[in-house]
Amino acid sequence: MSTRHFLMVGAGLSGAVIGRSLAERGHKITIVDSRDHIGGNCHTHRDAETGVLVHVYGPHIFHTDDEEVWNYVNRFATFRPYKNRVKTTSQGRVFSLPVNLHTINQYFGTTLRPDEARAFITQEQADTSITDPKSFEEQALRYVGRDLYVAFFRGYTIKQWGCHPSELPASILKRLPVRFNYDDNYFFHRFQGMPEEGYSDMIAGILDHPAITVQLETTFNREMGAAFDHVFYSGPLDGYFDYELGRLGYRTLDFERFTYEGDYQGCAVMNYGDEDVPFTRITEHKHFAPWEDHQGSVCYREYSRAAGPDDIPYYPIRQVKEKALLKDYADLAEAAQNVTFVGRLGTYRYLDMDVTIREALDTANAAQAAVSNGETLKPFFVSVL
Ligand code: FAD
Ligand code: UDP
Repeated sequence: MSTRHFLMVGAGLSGAVIGRSLAERGHKITIVDSRDHIGGNCHTHRDAETGVLVHVYGPHIFHTDDEEVWNYVNRFATFRPYKNRVKTTSQGRVFSLPVNLHTINQYFGTTLRPDEARAFITQEQADTSITDPKSFEEQALRYVGRDLYVAFFRGYTIKQWGCHPSELPASILKRLPVRFNYDDNYFFHRFQGMPEEGYSDMIAGILDHPAITVQLETTFNREMGAAFDHVFYSGPLDGYFDYELGRLGYRTLDFERFTYEGDYQGCAVMNYGDEDVPFTRITEHKHFAPWEDHQGSVCYREYSRAAGPDDIPYYPIRQVKEKALLKDYADLAEAAQNVTFVGRLGTYRYLDMDVTIREALDTANAAQAAVSNGETLKPFFVSVL
């Protein structure tokens, strides 16, 4: 067997899972991360003052239909059942999300049953003149109508994305269900849960292998790659090329942390649908671990804005302009030597954790097959455009 020395840039899920998979096949793995902790954006840490497990870069809830991925994460952590039940404050009242029978009855002051609610929304609210919704706005008007769109989606989306919903693709809204029953589970996946001791603890387990060395507070540069057989890079794609063609656009988040004695809002996630409330949501982290008991509470007020050069990139914008630039960077990547671009930053896509792990496992398998066949490893093992 031919043993290689691989460098993983990034100790998030992508770097950890690819690294672990290749370590288990006998390769030597070095992982660098510029941050002082593992876990990437899934990082969790226990707040010293309150004992609350805090999701440092925003709340993360694990949900998947991929049984292999579910089994994989359960190898490294004990998962507790957790359902994401989101509330929203809009026009001075609190409603249930995603839009469900409770939301409809609350909003319109009705007592409709499922069939009645479906008929009411489709016949009296939805704009059926829109046959093929192209934008976020058209999708909302077509399926829930103007009243619910304005109350729950328009203001929130303007704050979240910094542009009008008429300029955004319909696909963003398609992530959210509309239900004509009282099911208020935000997700519909078969497997949903939270790692009991947090994501960083789970990722520490993935990294715990004798062939893996992790170096924190170490920023990758291209010269570093020369000492390795191949690099798996989960940092920003444009950053690898020193932004020579310009910057791919991202939204960043500012978290305003505050503490509270007791229960601040009674739920983990409270969205704010009104445009004149400057933040999009407040998350109360102890409610992400309902099996724990803490008197103190840690909350984050979340604000979204365009990412500048020194900000953490969170959501790739992926509009027409960004996609054209992405194509140019993908061409540079195709020509680069000994590097594979992986993960949400390396491929400039929004990826849930389960998809990140699925792609990381597939990437490691494909890389191993290439090594075994004496082939060159590809710059991308997924389609990024
Ligand atoms: P990252 O976690 O970003 O890891 C990349 C790592 O590379 C970072 O640690 C970074 O420091 C390091 N790095 C970058 N450049 C360099 C360099 N030059 N040198 C050294 N190190 C470098 N998914 C879900 O399934 N459920 C959720 O509820 C959920 N909530 C989310 C909420 C928010 C606000 C966001 C933004 C994402 C959410 N996600 C969620 C998605 C989840 O965060 C990603 O799937 C996951 O973080 C992707 O892992 P990654 O390893 O590809 O990237
Ligand atoms: N959204 C909204 N109001 C809400 C929640 C979500 O308008 O209360 C919109 C928003 O544009 C968001 C999209 O629906 O980007 C998808 O929702 P999701 O919860 O998946 O948000 P994300 O993961 O993007 O934060």
